[in-house]
Amino acid sequence: MDTKTLLEWSARYHTPNYGRTPICLVRGDGVRVWDSDGREYLDFAAGIAVVALGHCHPRVTGAIREVAATLLHVSNLYHTAPQIHLAKLLVEHSFADRVFFCNSGAEANEAALKLARKYGKERYASDRYEVIATRNSFHGRTLATVTATGQEKYQHGFEPLMPGFKHVPYNDLRAMERAIDGRTAAVLVEAIQGEGGVNVPDDDYLPGLRKLCDESGALLILDEVQTGVGRTGRLWAYEHAGVEPDVMTLAKALANGVPIGAMLCRADVASVLTPGTHASTFGGTPFVTSVALATLTTVISERIPEHAARMGRELMDGLRALAADGTGVRQVRGKGLLIGIDLDRAAGPVVEACREAGLLVLTAGDRVLRLTPPLIVQPDDCRRALDVLRAALRATAR
Ligand SMILES: *Cc1c(COP(=O)(O)O)cnc(C)c1O
Repeated sequence: MDTKTLLEWSARYHTPNYGRTPICLVRGDGVRVWDSDGREYLDFAAGIAVVALGHCHPRVTGAIREVAATLLHVSNLYHTAPQIHLAKLLVEHSFADRVFFCNSGAEANEAALKLARKYGKERYASDRYEVIATRNSFHGRTLATVTATGQEKYQHGFEPLMPGFKHVPYNDLRAMERAIDGRTAAVLVEAIQGEGGVNVPDDDYLPGLRKLCDESGALLILDEVQTGVGRTGRLWAYEHAGVEPDVMTLAKALANGVPIGAMLCRADVASVLTPGTHASTFGGTPFVTSVALATLTTVISERIPEHAARMGRELMDGLRALAADGTGVRQVRGKGLLIGIDLDRAAGPVVEACREAGLLVLTAGDRVLRLTPPLIVQPDDCRRALDVLRAALRATAR
């Protein structure tokens, strides 16, 4: 099948909700992918911060082969060993005591929001159900999570939104303090805002939120769907801040590309989710949890977060040098391998120029380029990406 026909069929048979790049990817290996014309790309998108161990990592592929020949699916009416082992591993390596598995980031946040409402009502009062989220956040595309998402462009046309949500500016403790009241069940934030522009909060922000939540009894829900599993140079981004959330949501990188979501929380909070109160048909099947177990075990045993921190420093140093070079870069920000390059112009043409030169990168909003390479990226790959970026930024400068 030739590429032109594939792209024509795509337009004919898909709903038009994605603005796709006109290439068709057919194969991946490590930090590289190939399209249907045989062109090779250095993949500094990794899905959208999903493929942490790179494409077709042998331990991930091995786990998929083995579980596919053993047991793909049974329901949550029964126990399965991989799900139990994964929950145990997550608990042993985080603040959490309990884990609920689902299939995506939005679903993990849905679980956290339902948990917060139930906890607020049962622990405090029937009208304690409000959630305070932040502007420019991103929490998913379901009706509740798109309501929590503080960006009108994602909500437009889907009104009426869910009741019970408020938004305050990100990285603004005073605004959060003013917004919290006797109806606040939870505060929901990303450890670093990803889609909203790779916005890194001040060092005192998460500790400040922790204190506000402790004083008011509101739950602190941390959306680590993008920042989790080593992306920021620690296994969980909250480790940078020295405080722990009450609830944390995960998805993207947790099974290196196989769909999974997880909601982690303390035992006393989890206790409101009594049998029958929440569920997911596909959540935590032997298939996905085996793959996640292989992924997370590799990330931990091979000290991938530390490697990500080193590579992140190297990339950011290179990018900052590039920023001083008349390329229209206003700011380079991020942590580990979640990096935003704030431009003086639209980021789209730069993404296109990079792709034409064999480098895949993302945007985060209109004017921010986002780099989220596989965490196994090597110094050579970073140098090659910097060369392409420099040329692309120069070619598209104002
Ligand atoms: C991607 C993302 C989500 C949504 O995840 P889906 O799997 O697309 O539902 C939620 N929160 C954050 C921070 C994300 O980056």
